[in-house]
Amino acid sequence: MHLMVLGGGLAGVTSAWYLRKAGFDVTVVDRQPDVALETSFANGGQISVSHPEPWANPGAPLTILRWFGREDAPLLFRASKDPAQWRWGAAFLAECLPWRARRNTEAIAALATYSRDCLRNLRVESGIEYPHRKTGILHLFSTHQALARLAARADELAKLGISTEVCNAERCMELEPALVHGGRDFLGGLFAADDESGDAHLFTRALADKARQAGVKFILGANIKRIREIEGRIESIDVEHADGWCQQLEANAYVLCLGSFSPLLLPPTAERLPIYPVKGYSITVPISDPSRAPSTSITDEARRIVFSRLGEHLRVAGTAELSGFSTAPNPARSHALIDWLERHFPGVGAIDEVSHWSGLRPATPSNLPIIGRSRLLNLWFNTGHGTLGWTLACGSAASLAALMSGNAPKPRFPYFGRDTLTR
Ligand SMILES: Cc1cc2nc3c(=O)[nH]c(=O)nc-3n(C[C@H](O)[C@H](O)[C@H](O)COP(=O)(O)OP(=O)(O)OC[C@H]3O[C@@H](n4cnc5c(N)ncnc54)[C@H](O)[C@@H]3O)c2cc1C
Repeated sequence: MHLMVLGGGLAGVTSAWYLRKAGFDVTVVDRQPDVALETSFANGGQISVSHPEPWANPGAPLTILRWFGREDAPLLFRASKDPAQWRWGAAFLAECLPWRARRNTEAIAALATYSRDCLRNLRVESGIEYPHRKTGILHLFSTHQALARLAARADELAKLGISTEVCNAERCMELEPALVHGGRDFLGGLFAADDESGDAHLFTRALADKARQAGVKFILGANIKRIREIEGRIESIDVEHADGWCQQLEANAYVLCLGSFSPLLLPPTAERLPIYPVKGYSITVPISDPSRAPSTSITDEARRIVFSRLGEHLRVAGTAELSGFSTAPNPARSHALIDWLERHFPGVGAIDEVSHWSGLRPATPSNLPIIGRSRLLNLWFNTGHGTLGWTLACGSAASLAALMSGNAPKPRFPYFGRDTLTR
């Protein structure tokens, strides 16, 4: 059976890998000249099983109001006339209800834990190499209110099978000595020793090479212009190559992994996917003084900024902005990341050598990815991974491969189907 995976980011390439392993013939189609050149290019690098709470939680509306109108807000809503943005915003508020946030947290925790295991197995079985660290993630907290809740938060995570250590400020610096050089504006932390970090772009490229060796075909530089549907099935896709040549491509079944662009090309008879782009920023600086560079990945919980050491570079990433599909730079956002870097790890690298990037998280209101079958019979989804697309990539793809092979996936998760359409 020939499958066509639409999109060659983290979701598409991991899908191709697990589907090939399950015995399918697989072709990946992407508009870029190589894989992982859009949202999977320069993300925060965290495999963050210890942060299963979605953005949509009971405290989110207040946080949004508190930062309202500020360009450096962790979550910025830039109102537009796009009805899809308002629909998404309303659905996001509904997901902030306590019982929904709890249900979503449990589902993400189950998938994330499984995903980390899949990633570790994949490394062993494929021999893939990319810059990564198994040195955990340290979540830093800077308010007394957050500190008072740390033990309860660790208990909640333990109930989800995620172990963490509650740390005071001294213990944080013991775990990550490079913090000693910075402003030390944190009061305590939660340390998740089992978490990891790694370069998602180089991982995806290396996995694509392994997939090629295993027989997966890649058609790159091919912009998908239309998905053709006839009588409840996808018949073919129309692509335009970089040189202007147009072609129709056919397969027995299709897997949609187009990130934020996933809803845009679906024929009207398919479901309306609740995915909207949430823009985020990252900066990457070459490390000039390794003694000032942390070896643990860090999350500043108050500012929602994450930090990962990727080989010879430091990556700082974060902030979220609902402002449509533009990836245009926003100096206020980039400067917030540079300020953060200079405050916590001064002298780690030359600020004038920083490279800037922004990408569009394919976000669902619940932060749950959409994995499963469409009402169009030969169309499947593995998309909408939002803030956690790297963390959830391998587990989502392995679950999709199980579903497409007629087996039950391992994690308990609300897989997509007719019954879960409104999720
Ligand atoms: C600032 C930032 C920090 C982040 N940090 C983390 C983190 O620390 N940990 C974590 O787990 N996650 C993180 N994420 C989230 C993660 O990066 C994303 O969820 C993930 O990259 C999404 O992968 P994807 O394959 O769905 O989308 P993409 O990588 O965008 O892939 C979609 C692919 O579809 C292709 N495509 C789109 N339209 C067409 C078309 N018409 N024709 C052909 N091809 C098309 C694109 O070229 C692209 O290659 C972060 C995201 C951002 C923005």
